[in-house]
Parts: sequence; structure tokens; C-alpha cells
Amino acid sequence: MDRRSFIKGSAGTALLAGTAVASAPAHARRRIRWKMVTAWPKNFPGLGTGANNLAKLIQKLSGGRMKVKVYGAGELVPPFEVFDAVANGTAQMGHAAAYYWKGKSEAAQFFTTVPFGFNALEMNAWLFHGGGMELWRELYAPFGLIPAAAGNTGVQMAGWFNKEINSLADLKGLKMRIPGLGGEVLKQAGGTPVNLPGGELFTALNSGAIDATEWVGPYNDLAFGFYKAAKYYYYPGWHEPGSTLEALINRKAFEKLPKDLQSVVMQACHIVNQDMLAEYTARNNAALHSLVHEHKVDVRKLPDDVLRRLRQLSEEVVAGLADHNAAAGKVYASYRHFRDQVLPWHDISERAYLNARSL
Ligand code: CA
Repeated sequence: MDRRSFIKGSAGTALLAGTAVASAPAHARRRIRWKMVTAWPKNFPGLGTGANNLAKLIQKLSGGRMKVKVYGAGELVPPFEVFDAVANGTAQMGHAAAYYWKGKSEAAQFFTTVPFGFNALEMNAWLFHGGGMELWRELYAPFGLIPAAAGNTGVQMAGWFNKEINSLADLKGLKMRIPGLGGEVLKQAGGTPVNLPGGELFTALNSGAIDATEWVGPYNDLAFGFYKAAKYYYYPGWHEPGSTLEALINRKAFEKLPKDLQSVVMQACHIVNQDMLAEYTARNNAALHSLVHEHKVDVRKLPDDVLRRLRQLSEEVVAGLADHNAAAGKVYASYRHFRDQVLPWHDISERAYLNARSL
């Protein structure tokens, strides 16, 4: 073989071999560009910045071979169209919360949070070591989507109210922004749940279009200025005890990535999942201090009998959903199995320790 035909031959082999050879330097120079649509106002503390961190991490871990451009709510698509936008390939990736997609599949709600269900520690344990993640992937597969856990807020607050909640009767007729299964529970308690994107909440509360809203916790609620629109800030967030945020990934786009970049995307989600929880835990402290001491917010605990009744209603709502929806039934069976094991353990570990710390 003379030198000329050798060069031609090796070039041809490289072309035929496709991505295997293309992951060599020539491919590395061609940067892969993805879009990430989100359900959050651009750069919103915790949620929007968490999505930004995810994009930055993918770029960094890929050594610059991938770049992900993040879009805030409404920039490319409205917040509640993130799921469809990623499914149809308008964007390769999204960042949102699975309970927004109950219209696609009611079982999706389990993958954000369940009223009186798992806290963040338990949610991550179920997802990553208790079979939850496999069920979530199975649920999104028909939509051409791969889900990943990509953030957790920890225990949220019950929300902002313009009237006192002294008994269950005070929830009757209450028009409150509260998504997911928590909203179903409020409905059973006589209230009127509505769902609105975060960016619309202040105006809705301030104008009286809604009587109350939940959002996340002090860090996020301070950023939206809800203390200017409501008198009372109730706890605990019975409806969202450890909400998982999700990354949605378009399966076709994912499968086009070389294997190492597929790992980068999934590992970046995993890192952000843990890091966001740490950020919330740290920032909520300072924000609560500011709400109480600078803005004189009236922070109140929901009465025990209200919480007790909401817990009963929650069990009925979740069991009812599992009964009438096969996919939800399958997820709930796994969830309940894990709960039955984790509760006795956390009674003598987390709960016993927190109690001991305040003796
Ligand atoms: Ca919430």
C-alpha cells in the first residue's frame, strides 16, 4: 500500500466507524449544544439557579464538549409546557417538577412528593436504592423521556394565608394555589385548589384572586415577597415534605450522545440533586430570620387537629388514586412497601435524635 492510498483508506475507515472513532479529537472540537427549558423564572434562587448549576456542571464535567443553554419560564415555552417541549424535541432537556404533569400521568405526582409522605432523605433512598427510579423511568418511557432527580427542597412551608387557620372549617371555600396531591387533599377538605406557575403567584395573592398560596420555603418565598401580600405564614409543609425536582431528558437526543457524555449528564443531575438540598437547608435559615425579624411575618403552626385530619384525607386520596389508576397503583405499592420499612427505622434514628436534641 503506498502512502496516498493508506491515508485515503484510514479516512474511509474513520467515516464508516462513525461515533466510535469520532470521539477522538476531531469530535471533541465539535461542541454539542443543548437547550434546557425550565418551569422557573430565570435565575430564580434555588430552582432557576439549580438549573443553571446543572447546565454549568454538564459543561465542566464534559470538558467543554457539551454546552447547555438554560431558558427561564416563558422564554422558549411557557412553564407548564416543559414536558411537551422536551418530549417533542424543542429542547433536549428540561427542569421542572413531576407533579405538574398529572394530566399526562397521575402517577407522576409520586415522583415529586406525597402529602405526609417521604422527606428528602427518604425520597432519595426510595428513588436510588428502593426501586423508585426504575418506576419513574418506566412511567416516562412512552413519552420518549428519561427522568432524573435533579434537586430537592427539603420540607416546605404550608403557605401564606390572609386569614387564620384555627380549624378545618377555615379551609372550607379557601381558594389556594397548591399543586399535586396536596391540592386533591385540600379539595377533600372543602377548599378550591388551583395551580399557577411560580411567577404568577405574587400578583394572584396580592390581588385577592387567590386566598392563599404555598410555594416552597423561606428562601424562595422571601424572593417572591409574599410577606407583602399575606399576613400569616403557616408550617409545616404537610403537602410537600421533601419535593424532588426533576430533569427531563429527550431520549433520542440522549442516545445520540457518546457513552461518556451520557454519564456526564446523569452524574451532573445526581450532583445537583444533592447540592440543591444542601443549598435550601443553608439558605432557608437566613431567609426565615429575615422574614421574622425584618419583615415581622407572623409564623404559625397549623393546629394539630387540622394536621391530623389532613393526614387522614391524604391517605384516602393517595389510596383512591392507586385504586383507580393502574400506573399509580404500581408506584404506590413500591412507595408503601418502602414506607413501611423506613418509618420504624426513622422513628429510632432521625426522629429520636431530633427529639433528643431538644430535650
Ligand atoms: Ca410547593
